[in-house]
Amino acid sequence: TSPAGLSARTSERPPIAPLAEVVGAGEKVPLSSGDVVRYANLDYAASAPALADVARAVQCSLGQYASVHRGAGHLSQVTTARYEAARETVREFVRGRVDDAVVFTRGTTDAINLAAHITRGDVVVLDIEHHANLLPWSARERTGSSRLRVVRAATTIEDTLAALDTELASSPAALLAVTAASNVTGEVLPVGRLAAVAHRHGARILVDAAQLVAHRPVSMVTHGVDYLVFSGHKLYAPFGAGVLVGRSDWLDAAEPYLAGGGASASVAVDDATQSADVTWHRGAARHEAGSPNVLGALSIAAACESLTALGFDAIGLHETALLARLDRGLDSVDGVEPLRVFDDSTERVGIAGFVVAGRAPRELAEFLSDRAGIGVRDGKFCAHPLLRRLGFPNGAVRASFGLGTGSDDIDRLVDALRQLALRDA
Ligand code: PLP
Repeated sequence: TSPAGLSARTSERPPIAPLAEVVGAGEKVPLSSGDVVRYANLDYAASAPALADVARAVQCSLGQYASVHRGAGHLSQVTTARYEAARETVREFVRGRVDDAVVFTRGTTDAINLAAHITRGDVVVLDIEHHANLLPWSARERTGSSRLRVVRAATTIEDTLAALDTELASSPAALLAVTAASNVTGEVLPVGRLAAVAHRHGARILVDAAQLVAHRPVSMVTHGVDYLVFSGHKLYAPFGAGVLVGRSDWLDAAEPYLAGGGASASVAVDDATQSADVTWHRGAARHEAGSPNVLGALSIAAACESLTALGFDAIGLHETALLARLDRGLDSVDGVEPLRVFDDSTERVGIAGFVVAGRAPRELAEFLSDRAGIGVRDGKFCAHPLLRRLGFPNGAVRASFGLGTGSDDIDRLVDALRQLALRDA
């Protein structure tokens, strides 16, 4: 069959349109053949393109802003009110408790480092975590204050819950820190059940929701989540901002994450000792020293509002249809092996990690880019232990998608992989 024939086969199915307008959707890229095609962005799990609504909100904010918390002037007051309102929007988006702190950070990595800073006692994680939810805890372990305990995820969610239960029963831990959706396989973990396991043994739970919040509704209250973290750039907002939402007591008991203005309520220098006598704020401000990333916070809030307006029912239907099409397509190509930790009954977000027999991940990603104008991620996805345990220490390829994706993007990927398989045959 010719490549053209293959294209016809995939396009026989009814098309699925993008669900929302994203910035840069019509971007054209040159191929090695000299042709120019529309860029197919299948790398949303790395960074999702900004929603057009979010871009408009940022543009609007750029037109009128001033430093927050510091001025009596009109613009300073307006910006402060909008920055504080952004916390409420985020709290509402993740259904946080009224007394939870909403701390703006630089991203998920920064938020988990903050969590590591405030946590006293052992921390239990799974062996499928992104480095962001592994290295902050192991760095802290090196200071000798507490242990990091890594539990091997089993091949089913049930057995994984049982393994965590056994680990937490074996010796007390302060925190269970787990991903809600794997950035390698897209597999979704049951946050409520994980929280129940943690709480049964007196531990709290931190959920790394970096790969979940753009795909599924979250309710910290319903699921009993103590801390939740995510990044703006995976939620259709620009880079540089993220959030930690969670219980205030540990945050208030800890020294500020960063020392400086904004975190301090009053400062005096003792003439005799020449040391600073500081009273630190409580709440989010305690850990947000320095001029905050106001535009980042406002863009996260704008993204939360846009996703809420679209509705997670519609988001889920769009994603499920595209994922089924992608899975069927990948399944039909010789030599493609999907990456999975858990069994096939496990739900997934719009992420498909895979390898192609006989092809190095980088070679494959370059082929897709140069020959078909498709952007995927290759490598070890900041999850080296997981890639090693899955048997792919040299990495894999990951296609991931979201609101700006249509079936055309998925079909192009599958067709390109088929063409490669045919060339190899
Ligand atoms: N956790 C997960 C599951 C991720 O996928 C990522 C990013 O890929 C992170 C944490 C780190 O996010 P950031 O780089 O925005 O700090």
